Formats: sequence, structure tokens, C-alpha cells
Amino acid sequence: MKLKKALVFSSNASNIASLCWGANSLAQESVAIVLGTESQANEAAAWAGKVLWLGEKAQGSMAESYTGAVAELVKKEQPELLLMGCGTRDRCIAAKLAVRLGAGVITDAATLEVDEAGSVLVKRNVFGGAAQATVKALGAMGIVLTSGGFDETAPAAAGSVEKLDVQIEDMGIQLLDTSAKQEETVDIAVAKRIVAVGRGLGSQENLAAAEDLAAKLGAEMGCTRPIAEEQHWMSRSRYIGVSGATVKPDLYMALGISGQVQHMVGAKSSKIIVAINKDAKAPIFQDCDIGLVADMNKVLPKLTQLL
Ligand SMILES: Cc1cc2nc3c(=O)[nH]c(=O)nc-3n(C[C@H](O)[C@H](O)[C@H](O)COP(=O)(O)OP(=O)(O)OC[C@H]3O[C@@H](n4cnc5c(N)ncnc54)[C@H](O)[C@@H]3O)c2cc1C
Repeated sequence: MKLKKALVFSSNASNIASLCWGANSLAQESVAIVLGTESQANEAAAWAGKVLWLGEKAQGSMAESYTGAVAELVKKEQPELLLMGCGTRDRCIAAKLAVRLGAGVITDAATLEVDEAGSVLVKRNVFGGAAQATVKALGAMGIVLTSGGFDETAPAAAGSVEKLDVQIEDMGIQLLDTSAKQEETVDIAVAKRIVAVGRGLGSQENLAAAEDLAAKLGAEMGCTRPIAEEQHWMSRSRYIGVSGATVKPDLYMALGISGQVQHMVGAKSSKIIVAINKDAKAPIFQDCDIGLVADMNKVLPKLTQLL
């Protein structure tokens, strides 16, 4: 069963393609609302049946200032689902939309499906990823926020782009300045191969061997939360799990990672998981396709040499 229509919106226009994949799999018709450049609007038209382009964000404005414009489009288009990104600005906008439209909001959706009755069933991770809850929004339309993870399909069709003149609202906040973060940022969610390290690494010096392996495999480096948040050996954008990134590469190499549920929630959609851990009883061995009980620091140089 499919919905008749799903609308897609994210304050970050680079999320639109991924959200459209989701909308196309759930609904017969997808419409994307794009707040961004003309090329981002044209790009979205490859994925959505129709693109409603709000133009670029006005200087000094916050994305929330477009809440009224988005609410009007929702009223006009009358979708059964509004699919949004999971970023901070999207959360603010979703809350404001919920009040204006009298709609329910579901955040952090892990998966979505439409049941026989035409309701959108959403699975969300709860208890730090140890369990999942299934919820649905009541009413004519639900607002669901997700970081994506939909099966990537080919572009849906060449949709049309309609440029709209919209009034932006004063939201009581003015954007004064933006500056690049000093910390390295990586979009690990799109990596096709990942070499991830955990506390079994032992010391920062041992990172070099894992990086050599990643270079050989053409892989991105990832890590567990303690490596980024406690040891600060890698940037926060590289940690994977319930409070970090969700990844789904073809190959996930978990080196010196115990495999706690909070980490695996973000990694378990990988196609092949290879684990190296010196403890044969480590939970990661329940989740991997290929497991090697060994000291990673002894094995890695040999493995890289073999490759
Ligand atoms: C609310 C909440 C949210 C969380 N969110 C996240 C999250 O998003 N991401 C995340 O990663 N964690 C998260 N955590 C933490 C999580 O529960 C684990 O503590 C963490 O994932 C463990 O990291 P680790 O595997 O690196 O370390 P450990 O659990 O300490 O495991 C280290 C492993 O390395 C092995 N080892 C040791 N030496 C070697 C060696 N020489 N060679 C091979 N193996 C070796 C050990 O046998 C062990 O299995 C969260 C926790 C909470 C409570």
C-alpha cells in the first residue's frame, strides 16, 4: 500500500535527495520544498515529481522564518506525510508546524512503512538503541523526521521546478555570523567502506596502522564514541552509533570494538561486517559476518601487507 502524496522538506537542501528516496518508496507522488540555490532545486527535480522552490535563505534569516511558507504549502498540497530532516533547525520548524497545522510529530525515525490501512508506521530506537518502539501519527497528516537510510534507487523522474515568492517571518532571532568549525567534519554516513576503531586500539600511536589499512581499502576511518568523546583521538563526526552517525557501507571493519548495542545501532545496516577482537566472547562476534579473534595491533600490518 502506498500513500497518495508525501511532501519533503529540510532546512539543509543537501538532504533532499535522500528524503525523496523515502517519499518515493512510501507515496505515489512526492513533492519537495527546497530552501536553497537554483542548482539544488534543479537537482531535487531529479528525485521529486514536483519541486516548490522557496529561493535561497535570506541574509540574516533563520530557516524557522520559512515555517509559515512551508505551512501554507502543506495546506495547499494536502499530503498524508511531511518527511523532514533531523537537524536542529528542522526540529524547531517541525515543532512550529505541528502547532500551526495541528499535526503529530515523530522524531528520529529509523524506518517507515505504510500499513494496509494507509497509516505510516514509524520505528524509533529507544533506551539508547536497546529496543525499538513502533509509533504512528494520528490525523490526516503526520510529520516525520529522519536522518535517511532509505534504499537508494535511481532518480524518480524529471520533475518540474516552481519558483515561489514567499514572505519570511520575524522569528525573534537574527543570524549574525557563521564560521567554519576548527574541528574536522566528515560525512561518514555516505562512505562505502569504513575501518572503525574502538578502545582496543590501546593508544593513539596505533591509529597509523588502521589508517594504512583504510588507505589500502579506499575506506573512511570511523570510531566508537569513547575514541571521539573521551580520548579525542578522532573527530566527533567520525563516531558511529545511536548518538553518532548511522552508516550503511558495503564493508564495515570493526577493530578493537566490543559491539555494544549503542554502537551497533549505527553500524548494523552495513552489508558485510568484519570484526577483529582479542576477546572471543565480545558481543561484536554476534553481529559480524567474518570474525577474527586476534590482537588487532599485531594483525593489522600483516593484513595491510597482504592486501
Ligand atoms: C546513552 C548512550 C549512548 C551511547 N552512544 C554511543 C554511540 O553512539 N556510539 C558508540 O560507539 N558508543 C555509544 N555509547 C557507548 C557504548 O555503550 C560503549 O561503551 C562503546 O561503544 C564501547 O566502545 P568500544 O567498543 O570502543 O570500547 P569497549 O567496550 O571498551 O571495547 C573495547 C574492545 O576492544 C577489545 N580489545 C582490547 N584490546 C584489543 C586488541 N589489542 N586487539 C583487538 N581487540 C582488543 C576488547 O576485547 C573489547 O571488546 C553510548 C552509551 C550510552 C549510555
